[in-house]
Parts: sequence; C-alpha cells; structure tokens
Amino acid sequence: MITRLLRKLIGPRRTKAPRILPLAEHGISREHISPCALRVARLLREAGYSAFIVGGAVRDLLLGREPKDFDVATNATPDEIRALIRRSRVIGRRFRIVHVYCGGETVEVTTFRAVNPPAEDEEEGGRVTAEDGLILRDNVFGTHEEDALRRDFTVNALYYDPDRQEVWDFHGGVEDARRRVLRMIGDPVTRYKEDPVRMLRAARFAAKLDFHIDPATRAPIARLAPLLARIPAARLYDEMMKLLLSGHAERGVRQLRAEGLHHGILPMLDAILDDPARQAFLHAALHDTDERVRRGQNASPAFLLAALLWFDFQAAWRRRIEAGEPNHPAMHAAMEDTLTAQRERFAFPRRLDGMIKEVWQLQPRFEQRSGARPLRLLAHPRFRAGYDFLVIRARGGDAPQELADWWTRFQDADEATRAQMLLPAQGQGGRRRRRRRRRAAAAEPAPALAG
Ligand code: ATP
Ligand code: MG
Repeated sequence: MITRLLRKLIGPRRTKAPRILPLAEHGISREHISPCALRVARLLREAGYSAFIVGGAVRDLLLGREPKDFDVATNATPDEIRALIRRSRVIGRRFRIVHVYCGGETVEVTTFRAVNPPAEDEEEGGRVTAEDGLILRDNVFGTHEEDALRRDFTVNALYYDPDRQEVWDFHGGVEDARRRVLRMIGDPVTRYKEDPVRMLRAARFAAKLDFHIDPATRAPIARLAPLLARIPAARLYDEMMKLLLSGHAERGVRQLRAEGLHHGILPMLDAILDDPARQAFLHAALHDTDERVRRGQNASPAFLLAALLWFDFQAAWRRRIEAGEPNHPAMHAAMEDTLTAQRERFAFPRRLDGMIKEVWQLQPRFEQRSGARPLRLLAHPRFRAGYDFLVIRARGGDAPQELADWWTRFQDADEATRAQMLLPAQGQGGRRRRRRRRRAAAAEPAPALAG
C-alpha cells in the first residue's frame, strides 16, 4: 500500500538513454561470442526485431573472462521467438523466457521487460506484485530502456550489438566494471524488496568477479536478509547452487557470511559457520569443489550436499544410538532425518539422495583395512566419491590423514604391495572370524568320533 503510494508520488523510475561504445573502446570482438547466440540474434534481427547479447556474457567479456553462458534480449515476445526458432521452448511462469538449443548449448532469450507497468497490467500473466513490493510474476513487456532499468546491477545491464559490434551501456556499467564495483540499479531497498534473491546475487557476483559491493548497495542487506524466507525453496536451491558451483564457492560463502546472509537460508550454513571445527571441514570441501570447477571437472551437487550435511548427519546418528537404537537402523533413520530437515527450506532434488547416502555410508568402511574388505570397497561403484570425501575429511581434520594416505597408496598399488599393506585382522573383524572358525569347527564332526 505504502509502496504503491510512494511510487505514485515519486513517479516511475526513470529510464536513461545509453552510452554507445564502439569496438575500439570496449574491445569485445565477435569471435568471443557463441555462434549459437549470434545465430539467435541474427534470426531475430532478420525478422525485423531488435536483439542484443546481454547480461553476464557481456560483463565477463568486458572483464576478459570466459562467459559461462549467453543470454539474448529482444523485443520479440516469447510466442514470436518460438514461431521463429524451431529448436526452442518457453520456460518459467513467474518469469517467462525462451530456451533456444543449438547442439549441446542453450541460449536464454528474454523479452524486454517493462518497469512500473500501469495498474491494469497487474493481473494474470502480467506483473503481479505483493503488498510489500515482492514481484510475484513479471511478464509485462516493455522497451529496451525499461529492460535495462529492471536488471539488477549496472554491470549486468550491458547490451552488445553483434552487427555493429557496439556495447550499449545504460547505467554506467562499463565504468563500474573498470572500477570493479557492484552497484544496484535504482534504489537498493526497493530492488531487494521486489526480489530478495538479488541479495544472494550480490554476494555471488562480488565473490565471482572479485568486486567490491558499493556501500549503498551493501548497506540494506543485513537488515533485509530475513526477506529471503519468502523465496520458494526450489529457487533458493538453484541460486545457492549457482554460488556453490561457480568455482568461487569458498569466497562466496565468506561473502554470504560477511553480509549476514547465511542465517536462515541454509540451516546447515548457520551451524557450520558458527563452529570452528566444522568450518575447517567446510572450507576443505568448498576449496576442493572450486578446484574441480576450475579444472573443468565434474563437481556434483550431491557430493557438495553430502559435505555440507555431514556433521548434521553424524549428530543425528549419534543421538539415535544414544537413545538405544541399534547401529544400522539408526544410521538409515539419521540419513532420512537429515535430508528431510534440510528439504523444508532448501529443495534439492530427490534424485540426489541416493548418492548423498552412499557417500556417507561408505565412510565407516574406509576404516576397515584388513582381510578382503579393502578390495571389496575398491570395487564399489561409488568408491571414487567416497574416497574423495575421505580426503576432504582428512584435510578438514575430521579423519586421520594417515588413513586417507593409506587409501591413496592402496588403490594404485600392485597386488603384492596391497597384500603387504593390509593390516592384521583385529577388533570386530577378528572376533567375527574367530567366531566363524568356532562355528565351522562345531559343524564338522569331531575327528575322534569319525572313525
Ligand atoms: P552468470 O554468469 O552467473 O550467468 P548472469 O549475470 O548472466 O551471470 P543470469 O542469472 O544468467 O546471470 O541472468 C542474466 C541477466 O538477467 C543478468 O545479468 C541480469 O541482467 C538479469 N537478471 C537475472 N536475475 C535477475 C534478478 N533477479 N533481478 C534483476 N535482473 C536479473
Ligand atoms: Mg547468464
């Protein structure tokens, strides 16, 4: 109510004309743009629409980095894009966009959005805003200038014209990129209230780009962090995974903490970041993930979640054992407890559960280093993930380094060396074997009676 009244008094946010930079000034050549994005832009332009490469790709190229993916912005509507480009699909409801597929690549095509659409548009399919300013749906289309104004940060509102090789800069993003400043377009408080996920994005981009968050953009975050509670659990998962799998997770999580954003979004981060022992483990896990991403290796969300929830799982298991439950059922129930508790706030897909559980279940098996068990563990389909997890535990002080080193050597050793490495049977294994031997002896007819 008050927001609307204010908006009426102040009037709509002001659009700006762009500053247009030629190739000589921005230095982004067409060769660095994905052929798929160029093709999409060309098809749209040939059909009479305007089309630009936009967002992260232009920003990253300007900074001399390799873009993760390419986005295209156009004045064609989703239906018009669909009609023009066969291998495409409309996705999203809150924010309808078109995915165009070329080979293995996907280019996201968005239609220019309006800012402050007139009240009559606030209905089904258009812009739907809650009383407190939260945008529930945003599908009112607008002009290019308006589209620039509704983007989040100045460096994300740069548009590249592939025909003329120009960069259109509406909000001083080129200068901010040069000074490495992340600055919200418009009034930060209003923009965070429209979409609280922008707070997480601020932390993510600051970490990924090694930018400094402009003080006015940063200041309201700590106070507004609780607004994240209104974000659906599935969107929170997507946005957090972007941060955790960006190759800059370690810095990203530090940034979240610095902004006070870790409380409440990820219950696991709350717990981890307030306990020094857990922190060492977390940083070992994030460091490992970052290295993998940077080497172009597979970093799986399941593995990461297994790491983030490891302590919660162990605590749940311990609680059940202390309550008198037998070890094995207690472990299974503890796994379920842990995953269910997280899922309330953070909707990770169920297909990840299997791998998370396997990685956890394998851990105690690494402690058994005698008899045939180590060889059996080596042959387990998830051995690699389990072993990688053990290495991280050792690095984070949660498992003996000697144990991890033993497995590092054992898996690559030849048969003879492996045989030498095996530890003598002891503890439970030994007891069980003795029991088995006794049982076998009992089953055999006693020699004295046989004849
Ligand atoms: P990345 O390199 O991680 O893909 P990106 O900047 O391309 O970074 P995307 O999430 O792919 O980020 O979004 C593409 C563009 O859409 C952004 O650059 C920004 O202009 C705009 N955008 C995305 N999410 C929002 C949001 N929540 N609010 C405002 N603008 C947004
Ligand atoms: Mg992108």
